[in-house]
Amino acid sequence: MVDSDTSRRICDAVAARFDEQLATTKEFVAIPSTRGAEGPCQDMMADLLNQRGYEVDDWKIEVDDLKDLPGFGPIEHDFSRARTVVGTYRPERTAGKSLILQGHCDVVPAGPLDMWETPPFQPIIKDGWMYGRGAGDMKSGTIGAIYALDALRAAGLKPTARIHVQSVIEEESTGVGALSTLQRGYRADCCFIPEPTQGQLIRSQVGVIWFRLKVRGRPAHVAQAGSGSNAIKAAYHLIQALEGLEEEWNRRAVNDRHFKSVVHPINFNPGIIKGGEWASSVPAWCDVDCRIAILPGWKVSDCQAEIAACVAEASRKHSFLAASPPEVVWSGFLSDGFELTGAEEPEAVLRQTYSAIYGGELPEAAFTGLTDTRFYGLNHGIPSLSFGAVAEQMHGFNERVNLDTLRKATQTMALFIADWCGVEKA
Ligand code: ZN
Repeated sequence: MVDSDTSRRICDAVAARFDEQLATTKEFVAIPSTRGAEGPCQDMMADLLNQRGYEVDDWKIEVDDLKDLPGFGPIEHDFSRARTVVGTYRPERTAGKSLILQGHCDVVPAGPLDMWETPPFQPIIKDGWMYGRGAGDMKSGTIGAIYALDALRAAGLKPTARIHVQSVIEEESTGVGALSTLQRGYRADCCFIPEPTQGQLIRSQVGVIWFRLKVRGRPAHVAQAGSGSNAIKAAYHLIQALEGLEEEWNRRAVNDRHFKSVVHPINFNPGIIKGGEWASSVPAWCDVDCRIAILPGWKVSDCQAEIAACVAEASRKHSFLAASPPEVVWSGFLSDGFELTGAEEPEAVLRQTYSAIYGGELPEAAFTGLTDTRFYGLNHGIPSLSFGAVAEQMHGFNERVNLDTLRKATQTMALFIADWCGVEKA
């Protein structure tokens, strides 16, 4: 652990640059980097990393390179401009342990703009919070990683281990951005992902499966509705059946050592519904895009089989679907759950730095969403920690990140880097 004088200098350096950090964060949040539109965010990241003298690797992701790797999820949209950006710091002399600092720059859609109090991509600061889509999840964390490194330099220090700052895409839909860094060959002794974890270490997290129900009916005039088959009504029948599967899986969750204390950890979400053409025509088609969670240790392929069986069983009991069963399409995430184990060394460092900044013990959480940490921990044995600021309304309206906790999380990250990688006088 760095001595208390060094620790204080690092924390002061974060505080001294915090206004600049917020200005950069605002600029980053202002870019509407929804899926497929992350390019300008990656340009900005490459610029920030280049300005600081890091070695920048900026490449186009080829799905063919990834599709057979564990954890890959199918890509359905235009992927021709998908990129990953990594900035690497190499020490002159290696003494400490190497580190990956990773953030995702993709954000989920903002939803109807009239439901936001201020425009989602015009971030503002008010009463100690920054508002904007991605302000919490997780652009403030990614920029925080860069400023944590800046603080070390400002404190007259340089790390004594290799560090990769990785800006990835697709975290919100498949995780193939993180996967691409591993395929490219990036490895380290630890990975740190500053997601807005509310000041807790993520001990365990769910996996996620995305699928689409494609129901196809027979169009008819509504005056003869009996002669048609209403695809929207049939989709409701399938949604209800899947709610039954959700309850069954939640009953199973009581056997999980971390999730047994979480109320309803498995959430099934019909997230998008599209169907029909005309109010007076019986809809001939309905597509429902769904998300469901699974727990650590559950096999993705087994869970896919259960989903398919649930839909098939419900269809057999339905007058129309029995003869015309829906298709189930795997439409994104096919992700394992992940429990953080074997990470005692970096955890101990985080615990120490946490108590230096926040005072007290580092709290832990079982998280009912997922982060990219799984790729590192599950498939490459790289201990991967997720820790960050307090944020609210992620994926909702008026998303915001708390600035006091963002400063503290940045200081924690800076001290973590100093302790894990080691530092020497610049
Ligand atoms: Zn996130």
